[in-house]
Amino acid sequence: MKTIALLLTALAVLIALLAVEHRRGTVVRLYDWIRDFWGEPERMADRDGPPAFFNDGPQCLKRLQRQKDLDYVALDGFSNDRGCGARFPVLVQSIAGIDLEGKGLTLSCPMAERLAQWVKKDVKHLVRTHKKAELVQINHMGSYNCRKIAGSSSWSQHSFANAIDVEGLIFKDGERLTINKDWHSQPILQELASTACDRFNVVLSPNYNAAHKDHLHFDLGPRKTCR
Ligand SMILES: [Zn+2]
Repeated sequence: MKTIALLLTALAVLIALLAVEHRRGTVVRLYDWIRDFWGEPERMADRDGPPAFFNDGPQCLKRLQRQKDLDYVALDGFSNDRGCGARFPVLVQSIAGIDLEGKGLTLSCPMAERLAQWVKKDVKHLVRTHKKAELVQINHMGSYNCRKIAGSSSWSQHSFANAIDVEGLIFKDGERLTINKDWHSQPILQELASTACDRFNVVLSPNYNAAHKDHLHFDLGPRKTCR
């Protein structure tokens, strides 16, 4: 009886809190907290196959619509006979006025969501801290690529448009930084990689191995690695 009374009291307190703090932001934060508490879908992904959030499309697209300053278009799902593809891909062209090189990036919806959060919060903040000029472009080596991880039999998250390779930055005053040339001399690059570790499941930098000497690899695969 005592347990039931305790649970009912907790429920009443929660409802009262929600009634007082009924602003939309609070509800969204609570929703995010519950989602994090139960584990995000990608953490349950099959190690070798398409991520479990392959099906987290409609909900993710709704969340994406709420993002401000995100220039993107939803694309039709695609797949091939090797099992690669994305069910709810989006083409992201710019984030908060910062262009993605070329025509943009075709990304799984959750990857687009995390990339937008990273650029709007971490990248913008670090650029303000380290540079006088605004950031105008992020250079990349693309996202979707149906292939296995080099030296492994596991599928790369690039096979599901669930990974990106960041190559460098271009600023309004013409300054250009590349991971290849400036990794050791420009602290902003190492700080960018470190903030990315809080946003993505896997971050691989030049510190990891020679294959990553010229780019930062981010993905939302099942492993958690920051190197
Ligand atoms: Zn990569």
